[in-house]
Formats: sequence, structure tokens, C-alpha cells
Amino acid sequence: MYVNYRAREERRTGFLQGERLLRIEGPSTDRMVVEGFPAVPEDAPRETDPVEFLPAVLRPGKILCLLRSYRAHAEESGGAPPPEPVFFAKLPNALLGHEAAIRIPPGLEGEVHHEGELALVLGAGGRDLEAPEAAGLVAAYTVANDVTARTLQRADAARGWPWTRAKSFDTFLPLGPGLVPASEVEDPRDLSLEVRVNGEVRQRSRTGRLLYTIGEVLSRLSRYVTLEAGDVVLTGTPEGVGPLRPGDVVEVEIEGVGRLVNPVRGDGSGGGRAAGAMPHFLG
Ligand code: MG
Repeated sequence: MYVNYRAREERRTGFLQGERLLRIEGPSTDRMVVEGFPAVPEDAPRETDPVEFLPAVLRPGKILCLLRSYRAHAEESGGAPPPEPVFFAKLPNALLGHEAAIRIPPGLEGEVHHEGELALVLGAGGRDLEAPEAAGLVAAYTVANDVTARTLQRADAARGWPWTRAKSFDTFLPLGPGLVPASEVEDPRDLSLEVRVNGEVRQRSRTGRLLYTIGEVLSRLSRYVTLEAGDVVLTGTPEGVGPLRPGDVVEVEIEGVGRLVNPVRGDGSGGGRAAGAMPHFLG
């Protein structure tokens, strides 16, 4: 899979094969989804510097997320699935790379949940598309954890407030480790999906239980928003969501797409200026 990472204060692009990271010259994965994924040269050097993985997409146009798109998760959330694909948005400050720490905001210990999800990355856009054409917009797949401040989400919903904040704290969207080109995933609706916390299985399902085809999802979204290259779509989570606590390690693994691993920390970092702290936008 194609990955973005930082080493020696530089943003680099690589190809991850198991534990082996090859350095490749080229643009970030954001551009690859539009321009195509380059062949990996046979003599690509192995990366030897210490690396910090960056999100699988550095600067998405939009991050759209399906709500209750697996029946069993809708039921554990206290309702039936909606009669059509319904979506909400997460904000890009939430993006996090593979192996980086999810931070639990002060006062929300024990109330922040994991949601393992298959994510789509679009390589082209459009609006008012029919399902077969919409399905063709997907350039790549990756793995997402739609981290959610559950009690805050429920409290805001009960008050009739938008619950965007419950989904968009910094670090609440691990995405990666990298992009798998769509051409390499034979059937995105026939993949096992598993979430483990400290090695214990919390969510186990298959993408085939998603209530809609990928074409149906994108077709529906395209009636409300113009889809664009670089948009990311989270297809929703199956049942088994549950709390993350400081000290935990959460893994989301999707067959043929990747295994996204993140430790969980308390947020003792405080606030302050962010200038220079997150160079994702240099992608
Ligand atoms: Mg979700």
C-alpha cells in the first residue's frame, strides 16, 4: 500500500509491504488518487530513518460518513437503520496516522468509542450520478476508525444540537496505514472487518453486511453534495462499538486493505498555538 510519512522533518511517500517500507520518489497519495498510482521501482530503497506515519490522505476535500449503515449497529444504537444512506461529516483536524496516539479529551474518559470502518477515497467527482457510474469514482480503499465521544454525541442529539464536535476532536480519525488502489480489491463488499482492543476482539463483521452497495452510497451522496477527487467516505461501522481508555491499543483490520493500529492516551497536552505542529497541509 502507498503511505505518507515523515522522517527527518520531511514528508515522504512510501510503499509498505508487510513491515517493509520502501521509499519512493513521487507525490503524496493525495495526488496519486488523481494521477494514478506509480509502479514501485525494483530498486526502491528500504527506508532506514525513523518514521512517523501520516494519514492515508493528507488533505481531503470532504470527509463524509455514513450513519447506521449496518443493521446490527443501528440496533445496538437504539434504532432501525434509516430508509436511505444518511451521512454526517467529520472535520480534517481529526485526522491521525497509523501508530499515532488517539487522545481522550479531559472529562471524557471511558466515553470515547472505537468504530472500525472501510473508507473510500475518490479519484474523480461528479453530482447526481447513478450508482454504476458513482462506483467508478473510487480510486482507493483504506481503513478508518471513526472515534466518537459517545455520551457527548447522545447529549447533543437529545438537545437538538448538531453533534459534529463529538466526532471531530483532534486525533478522532485514524486513517491508514495507506491507500490500496481500487484495482487491487476484487470485491470491497466481501471483506472481513475486525476491531481489537489490547488484542481482544470487539467488532467482527463483513463489509457485505453494509446495507447499500458502494455505488448506491456515492450516488445518494452526489444528490446532496458535489463529490470531488480527494474526498473520503467512511462507510459506517458494524456492531460491537465500545470504549477506549488511556493505555489501550486499538487495531482495525480489514482483509486486503490493512491493519490500522493506534495507542490511546489521556490528553495532558493542554492547548496553545498549532502553527507548524501539523504539516499535513504541506502535502
Ligand atoms: Mg461511524
